[in-house]
Formats: sequence, C-alpha cells, structure tokens
Amino acid sequence: MSEREELQNSVATTNACKLCTPLGACLAFRGIKGAVPFLHGSQGCATYIRRYLISHFREPMDIASSGIDETSSIFGGGENFLLGLANVSAQYEPQLLGVATTCLSETIGEDISLYLKKFQQEFSGDQIPVISVATPSYQGTHVDGFYRTVREIVVALAEEGRPSGLINLIPGLVSPADLRYLKEVGQSFGIELVLLPDYSETLDGVSWETYHKIPPGGTEITAIKSMGTASATIEFGLTVKPENSPGELLRQSRGIPCRRLGLPIGMRLTDRFFQTLQELGPGQIPPKFIAERGRLLDAYVDGHKYLFQKRAVLYGEEDLVIGMASFLAEIGVIPVLCASGGRSGQLQKELYRVAPELAGQIMVKEGVDFMAISALAEELKPDLLLGNSKGYSLARRMGIPLVRIGFPIHDRIGGQRILHLGYEGAQRLFDLLVNTLLERKQSNNQVGYSYL
Ligand code: SF4
Repeated sequence: MSEREELQNSVATTNACKLCTPLGACLAFRGIKGAVPFLHGSQGCATYIRRYLISHFREPMDIASSGIDETSSIFGGGENFLLGLANVSAQYEPQLLGVATTCLSETIGEDISLYLKKFQQEFSGDQIPVISVATPSYQGTHVDGFYRTVREIVVALAEEGRPSGLINLIPGLVSPADLRYLKEVGQSFGIELVLLPDYSETLDGVSWETYHKIPPGGTEITAIKSMGTASATIEFGLTVKPENSPGELLRQSRGIPCRRLGLPIGMRLTDRFFQTLQELGPGQIPPKFIAERGRLLDAYVDGHKYLFQKRAVLYGEEDLVIGMASFLAEIGVIPVLCASGGRSGQLQKELYRVAPELAGQIMVKEGVDFMAISALAEELKPDLLLGNSKGYSLARRMGIPLVRIGFPIHDRIGGQRILHLGYEGAQRLFDLLVNTLLERKQSNNQVGYSYL
C-alpha cells in the first residue's frame, strides 16, 4: 500500500508530531529556582517525560509522581497526592512545588484545588508555594502545557507595586543556549530582563563536585514577583492561545503592554526583536550585534548559490516552524512543507504574515502526524528535512539529510546547545545548512572533493 493510501485509511495518530502536555509543564517548572515538578498521575507518565527530557538535555531530571494505581484510579488519588507532596517537600526542601495533572487524573476528575487546600492545612501551612496547572494530554501539546504553566506561575506569584522599569521576557520553548543568548542580549542593551522560565543552567549546567537534589539556576521567585511591576512584556510566540499567554494576562490584569513577537530566528525576525529592545530600552543596538548582523549578511551573499531554490520539509512546534520558515525564505530555500502537530489555527496566517513571499508557494499543515508528513514529503521530493530527531526514519528512507533543530534531539549530542536565535544563531544555522548540502553533493559525486 502506498504512503498516500495508508494515510487515507488511517484513523489514528501515527508517530505524533507533538509531545505530551505535562512535559511542557515540567520543562517550565524546571526553569524556576528551587522548583520540583510533581505529576498527579501514574508512574509511567513521569518516567516517560523524564526519559524524553534526559535524552535531549543529558542532565539529571527528577520529576515526582503521585503514582496513581488501579485502586486510586477508581477511588480517587487524594491520599497518593498528599503523601507524595509531603515526601517531596521533606526530601527536596523545594522553594516551589509545581503540580501538573495528566490524562488519567483529568479523566477521573481529580479535585486538585481541594487536595491542595488539604495539603496546606495538614502538611505545609503556607511555607512552600504550590502552583498547579491542568495539563491533560488529550488537549493540546507540550507547547500548550509550557505556556499554560508559565501563565499559572505568573498568576500565582507576580505582585503589584511601583513601576520598576523591568522588561519581562517570555522566551517560549527554546534551548538553554538560546536562553543564555537572550540574557546576554539584555545585558548588552542595558535592560534588566526577567526571563521566565530560565532553564539555561538547570538543564545545561556545569559538572558538580557534590550532588544537588535540585540543580542550581532558574528564575528567582523574587524576580517573578517583580514581573507585575514591569514596564512591558515581550512574549515570543505568534500562535500562543490568548488564554495561555502570560503576557496577555499581565496586560489585562496590570495594564503592562505586551509586545508579541515571532521567535527571533533569521535576520528579519531578529531585526524586529532588536528594534523592540531599542524602543523599550535606554540605548542603541550595541556594536557587537551590528557586527554580527553584518557578518551574517556577508555569509548570506557567500553561500546563497549553494542554497538557492533548494527544497526543505520543515516540522516541529508551530512557532519554531514560523521562525525557521521565515529564515529559510530569506536565504533562498523553499520550505515546501511546513508542518506541525499543534493546532492553534494560526500557523498559516502567522507564517504568511512574517514571510509574505511564501504565500501560495508552499504547503502549511497543522495538526498532522509523521504519517501525513511522510506521505506529503514523498510527493514533494525535498532536498532535506529540518526538525527534531523524530524525522530521522523518514530522512533515512528518502536518502536525504536531516538537519536537527528544536526538541527533542535524541540521537545526537548537544541538542541543548543548539543556538537558534539572534544573528549568531542564524549564522550557525546558515553554515550548517550550506555544509550539509555541500557534503551531500560531495558524497554523491564520483570525483568527491573540490574547491568551492
Ligand atoms: S498518559 Fe497522557 S500525560 Fe501520561 S505520558 Fe501519556 S500522554 Fe502524557
């Protein structure tokens, strides 16, 4: 049976192009200093999420679980929940407990707010803040879980106060290397940023001489409290649902303006980010970044002939796809298929808004799995794939290269250190793309090596 026929007969998702919703919640909680993620669900959910995150970040990843079993599935998981939270509090001494629900606890209708009241009465008083977020995985993706969690953190902790001149930056689901780059940008501009969440150290830290139960790093809780006094919020994410958006929440509840931007991937989206910082901050674009931009432009000129009109299939989180498609279009690569497992309903509209030259030239698909992506890719005959490791089997079958970006990257080392953002990120991605295509040409050529 052909790929197309299989697709037409398929009634189920096959190899989803998205991840489980509480995984996004765990990632967000990992970016808060002293926080421990806790899943109200079966042991398997925590194990699966830990396994996924460890293979990408290669760091210890403790995710506690209430361990709902057959009995508590029927009679309620309240006892497991209370005991689990009490154990985690005693053993880890966290500064914050981040509770996320799972498919099972949502399906059996667990009353989390009642359990939390009981926990505070019986165990913790008000000593340890506990933030809970509803993350059934049959609703949304890991990206929804991520933003929903960041929003709940802001709801619970951001305080009112005198305007502080801070800028809140909600970076979205990016790599630790991206987070480090954003912090450096803020410092160079002379802007005091509150980056939420910040897992640049907790998920890509130094080697330790002694074991830490909770990895050092993360956004300080005091910094999150000050977010309610900021002069503006910059939120990366053009497809974030308003009800999940921390920036929208701060705008509505505190009147803090929210500047929503695409992930600054490639030159034009980075230009927009830097212009925004220039408008909000005290100074001009630092010379270092003007030089980075100049070098990037020079590289575009040098490498254009190797990329022009090449065809790429691009997949992953919706905002990553938008940023990468905009970058590919500006370097002359046609992203013939832009696909995501997310279903914001905004992907095509926002993609064409940032890269209008692609309108009508490419296929944009949201809510698709790898079976659909494979069937379309076979027809579109791309020169390469761009996305996470989950596309490897397709790339292998088609005999084309896979350029690994985003999350998860399970089959290579250094996924956490891939820089996607800014002029520097674009420079690295550009070199990687050109060299990947040159390598393929070289290895398919009888003569082999040649000067450029
Ligand atoms: S059961 Fe649901 S929450 Fe648990 S791992 Fe699977 S998709 Fe995620």
